[in-house]
Amino acid sequence: MAEKDYYKIMGVPRNATEAEIKKAYRELAKKYHPDLHPGDKEAEAKFKEINEAYEVLSDKDKRARYDQFGQAGVDPNFGGGAGGSPFTGGFDIDDIFNSVFGGFGFDGFGVGRRAASNAPRRGTDSEASVTISFEEAAKGCVRQVTYNQVQVCEECHGTGAKNGATRTCPQCNGTGQVRISQRTPFGLVQTTRTCDRCGGSGKVIDDPCPACGGSGRVNRHKTIEINVPAGIDSNQILNVSGKGNAGVNGGPNGDLHVLVHVEPHPIFERRGNDVWCELPITFTQAALGAEVVVPTIDGKVEYQIHPGTQPGDVFKLRGKGIPKLGSRGRGDQYVRMTIEVPRNLSQKQKDLLREFEKSGEDKNYQKRRSFFEKLKSTFGE
Ligand SMILES: [Zn+2]
Ligand SMILES: [Zn+2]
Repeated sequence: MAEKDYYKIMGVPRNATEAEIKKAYRELAKKYHPDLHPGDKEAEAKFKEINEAYEVLSDKDKRARYDQFGQAGVDPNFGGGAGGSPFTGGFDIDDIFNSVFGGFGFDGFGVGRRAASNAPRRGTDSEASVTISFEEAAKGCVRQVTYNQVQVCEECHGTGAKNGATRTCPQCNGTGQVRISQRTPFGLVQTTRTCDRCGGSGKVIDDPCPACGGSGRVNRHKTIEINVPAGIDSNQILNVSGKGNAGVNGGPNGDLHVLVHVEPHPIFERRGNDVWCELPITFTQAALGAEVVVPTIDGKVEYQIHPGTQPGDVFKLRGKGIPKLGSRGRGDQYVRMTIEVPRNLSQKQKDLLREFEKSGEDKNYQKRRSFFEKLKSTFGE
């Protein structure tokens, strides 16, 4: 079986982007669609070939395997010198990758395994966390965060060499890659792999930098100030662009992710952008109505309670909630009444309440009256 060049079939270069491949496929599929060429065997075969190529090149994993192994990496029926499908032997492609390429000299900073080792690469993201108060979350604040950041070593400017002295790797002549032939279950495959002498950098160091041990990178505590926006909630993550770990080979820094923890408030409870609280009032305030002071995140406000306020009644203070993150407006505040029955009454108070009870009859108690009416109608006198 001859090796098919999927890139040639699609008419795209080997470094074509996903979008370019998609575009090429659309154009070719339109051109060779069997509906447009009834009975034309050649067009039909071409259409099949295009679909086959697209299936591989449009799938990141398949494409990577194809780039490394050719068709054998993506087609279980292809080649495989040993006869029969190489996939029936109980190993999968990842095992092969690990056995063939297991010796990759990664630099330990989370670099993708098939990226060219001397190309500029973005650094990985760093993580930090910050704890703020309920009020700080509501109003926004500026906080210092300290975190671990991988930085380019200042001593050697990232070269890893003492005084920056490096020379071209003699094994790969500075390309960072070596071509090797490997006998695999698919047969003999030619692959390029990262040069193990230089780890893919194309340069060798005779005298490693003492400050970074030759890695060119150092782990440091870093402290920066971040703006925590008003409206942030617990467990949300702030992304601080470009403050993560240093890139490799001059690539940009990763980002810093700051996990926000908001401390609970003794009075307020947050529900989305609304704030809830309980307000204990006295039995007489509830019965007679009263002007009360209600705490809000903006400070105290006065509120007029209606006479006959019941336990569990809720009133709303419009716009007194939490600012909406990333947009205008605020939530509301909800205040739930709790009514405390008086305890430890003096003799005089008891007498007054008995007097009140005698004078009041049932007409003061709607719920109670309707309860006994229902009782009477259900069970009789
Ligand atoms: Zn160094
Ligand atoms: Zn080398």
